[in-house]
Amino acid sequence: MIDHTGRIVIELIESCGTVGSKLREIVEKACVRTLDSRMIIEGELRDRDGKRDAAAAKGYPIGEIPDSGEIESIIEGTRREGIGPHFNSLITYFWVIIAMTSTAEKQKVEELLGLIRRGLKGCFLMTDRGGPSMNTWISQTIVKDDDHLLTIDKLHGMNAVQCDCAIVVVRNPGSFLPAVYGLKPEKYAGLEKHAAGDAWFDGHVQLGNVKGKVTLSSNEKLIGGGFAPVAKQLSICRPRLVRVALSHLQWLTGCGRLRLSGFHQQALADITALAEAQMRFDVISPYTLDRVHALKFSFNELLLDIVLSGAVSDLPDRRDLLGLTKMEGSSYRCFLEIMARRMVRK
Ligand SMILES: Cc1cc2nc3c(=O)[nH]c(=O)nc-3n(C[C@H](O)[C@H](O)[C@H](O)COP(=O)(O)OP(=O)(O)OC[C@H]3O[C@@H](n4cnc5c(N)ncnc54)[C@H](O)[C@@H]3O)c2cc1C
Repeated sequence: MIDHTGRIVIELIESCGTVGSKLREIVEKACVRTLDSRMIIEGELRDRDGKRDAAAAKGYPIGEIPDSGEIESIIEGTRREGIGPHFNSLITYFWVIIAMTSTAEKQKVEELLGLIRRGLKGCFLMTDRGGPSMNTWISQTIVKDDDHLLTIDKLHGMNAVQCDCAIVVVRNPGSFLPAVYGLKPEKYAGLEKHAAGDAWFDGHVQLGNVKGKVTLSSNEKLIGGGFAPVAKQLSICRPRLVRVALSHLQWLTGCGRLRLSGFHQQALADITALAEAQMRFDVISPYTLDRVHALKFSFNELLLDIVLSGAVSDLPDRRDLLGLTKMEGSSYRCFLEIMARRMVRK
C-alpha cells in the first residue's frame, strides 16, 4: 500500500494539467525514497473516501491578493536577467502577502504595509534553532498583563541582517497554534543578527540568523493562526515561487550555465503549466493546499534530478538550485503534509 504514495501525488498534480512520462517517473521514485521509517513501519494509506475528498474540495475565496502585474514583471525580469536582481522584489512581494494574510485587522495590515511603502525592507522569520517541530522551538512568547515577552532564536531568514523589520512566528506555550508578531524597526534594531553561510544567486541574497529578547504589546500581535492564514500564504506564494524559479532556469539555459536534456525540457514545460494553473486558483481548501504541496514536491524533485544529471556546470548554481528545493517547503515537509491526512497508523 505505501508504494502507492506516488499515485496520490501524481493525482494531485494531474488535477491541474498534464504530467508527462519523465515527470511521472521522477515523482513516483521520489515518493518511495521520501517515505520515512515511521511511515514504512506503522503507516497504512486510507482508501480514498469520496465524501471526505468532496468536503475537503469545498473551499472559500482566497480573497484580496497583491496585483498580479507585479509577479508577472518579476517572472519576466527573471527570464531576462536571472532571479538575483529580482529577488528583493520577490521577498517584498511575499512579505506583503504574509502581512495581508496574518491578521484580519485592517489597521495592523495597513501599518505593516506602510513600512514597505516607506521603502523599508522586511524579513520573515519562521525556521527555528530548536528544529522543525514547533514543540521544541526556542522562540516563544510569554504574556504578562499587556506585555508580550518574546525570546527569539531564528535561523536562515532572507535578508534578516540587512532588513528593517520582521514578521516572526513563535511558540505560544499552552496552544497548539503559533503566535505571529510584527516587529517594527525600533524593536527589530535591538536584536542580534549574523549572516548565515555564503550569499545566494550571484551575491544578491544573504540569509541571516536573529537572536534576542524583546517586549511587545498586544497591538503588535497579529491575530490569526490556524488553517486559514497559513493555507492562504502557501497557496499564493508557492506556485509563484515555482514559476519565478522556472524563469531562472530559462535564464541559466540562455547563459549556457544549464544544459537540459529533451526529457528535462518536457518535464519543466509540464511543471510550468501546472504552476500557472495553480496561480489561477481563487479558492482555498485542504484539497487545494495538498495540490500546492504536490506541486512544490514535484518541482523540488525535478530540480534535484536536473542537478544530479550533471546538467549544471558551476557549483554556486547547483547550490542555488538546491536552495530552491528547500525554500517554501522541502520535499520531506510537503510529503509529510500530504500523507498526514491519508495515512493511518497501525
Ligand atoms: C534560499 C533559502 C531561503 C530561505 N529563506 C527563509 C526565510 O526567509 N525564512 C525562514 O524562516 N526560513 C528560510 N529558509 C529556511 C527554509 O525554510 C528551511 O530550510 C526549509 O523549510 C526546510 O526546513 P525543514 O526544517 O523543513 O528541513 P527539512 O530538510 O525538510 O528537514 C526537516 C527535518 O526532518 C528531517 N528529515 C528530512 N528528510 C527526511 C526524511 N526523508 N526522513 C526522515 N527525516 C527527514 C531532517 O533531518 C530535519 O530534522 C530558507 C532556506 C533557503 C535555502
